[in-house]
Amino acid sequence: MEIAEIGEFGLIRHLTENIKIQNAETRKGVGDDCAVLQFETGRQVLVTTDLLMEGVHFDLQYTPLKHLGYKSAMVNLSDIYAMNGRPRQMTVSLALSKRFKVEDMEQFYEGLQLACEAHGCDIVGGDTTSSLTGLAISITCIGDARPEDIVYRDGAKDTDLICVTGDLGAAYMGLQLLEREKAVFNSQLRDLAIKSPGAIARGRASGENNGATSGDGTSGATSGDGTSGDGTSGAGSGDGASGATSGAGSGDGASGASSGAMEDLVADFQPDFSGREYLLERQLKPEARRDIIEALAKAGIRPTAMMDISDGLSSELHHICSQSHTGCRIYEERIPLDYQTAVMAEELNMNVTTCAFNGGEDYELLFTVPLTEHDRVAAIPGVKVIGHITKPELGLLLVCRDGTEMELRAQGWNHMRK
Ligand SMILES: [Mg+2]
Repeated sequence: MEIAEIGEFGLIRHLTENIKIQNAETRKGVGDDCAVLQFETGRQVLVTTDLLMEGVHFDLQYTPLKHLGYKSAMVNLSDIYAMNGRPRQMTVSLALSKRFKVEDMEQFYEGLQLACEAHGCDIVGGDTTSSLTGLAISITCIGDARPEDIVYRDGAKDTDLICVTGDLGAAYMGLQLLEREKAVFNSQLRDLAIKSPGAIARGRASGENNGATSGDGTSGATSGDGTSGDGTSGAGSGDGASGATSGAGSGDGASGASSGAMEDLVADFQPDFSGREYLLERQLKPEARRDIIEALAKAGIRPTAMMDISDGLSSELHHICSQSHTGCRIYEERIPLDYQTAVMAEELNMNVTTCAFNGGEDYELLFTVPLTEHDRVAAIPGVKVIGHITKPELGLLLVCRDGTEMELRAQGWNHMRK
């Protein structure tokens, strides 16, 4: 259904009508000029916001809209947990180009609501407008915490232990994998154009007819079966992600074929993701680490500094050390890596440590705790001690597997590549 048929207000009503408010703090959600929130006395309010642009932060050729909704929510939830807070409310604003249909936005909201319900967060408002250049998503998440529980980036002290959760670099490897399969698909499209120009010409004509090449230069991934993957079971099942790639057109204007050889190519294209499902899941369906925040609280451990790993471990260590006025010492052999990450890095001739340090989008937590907490923190499943905080004059150092030391740069370790 065209969005114009129900209008902007109709779309908002349609997308938000089944939202159930989960927090007593949400006095009024969607439906008035403002949402109204009332927090318990003595709690502080946390606010984080995030702007995601098509073509810069996500590629709809391989990102199903349901996964995009889920991930857009999750990256904001992750920031609230990174302050040791609890997410409560969210506002969602979207700028949509003409090619999006009501059904596309239903998929996006399905993913969004799935993430919010799982984390007890209420969608309380937002805005929808039209865009001339693809999809833009702005999400603001509101959380709360007792003042004494909030963990900032500036509290790390000399000798504190540095911990990370989960494993690192897999989301980046997932992105490389998706980009590789996209390149394969696009090159098959180009081959087809050379072998059978008629098919492409027909494809172009029909593409124009069905609006898939509607001027903004992006693909028709949102139509067709690109969003047919089962987001609830995760991209790890492979069907969501492969649907995304095979359902997609390319951005070169050849997309949107609805007949002949091009249609066959689009229908038959089988991206090779076998054995790499975990990497796809990490890229397309990240999980904010509420479990770790709860485990730390249960153990009575309060981190001295904390943040989530969105830009890469190396960059986040720089933030914590500069704001805490410290140095750090990280042991390469302690960096948690998944087997699939290591295999994929090898295949792409990349250094796996570089990927873990600079890849980004892991949405794991990086935090520091006093040395005395070693045994208790190391006993929490999914937490690994990777090094310790030092005096600022010692700098940020990586102790390599062979015992040599090197300066930890914020990014770009070209000398570490094979
Ligand atoms: Mg953050």
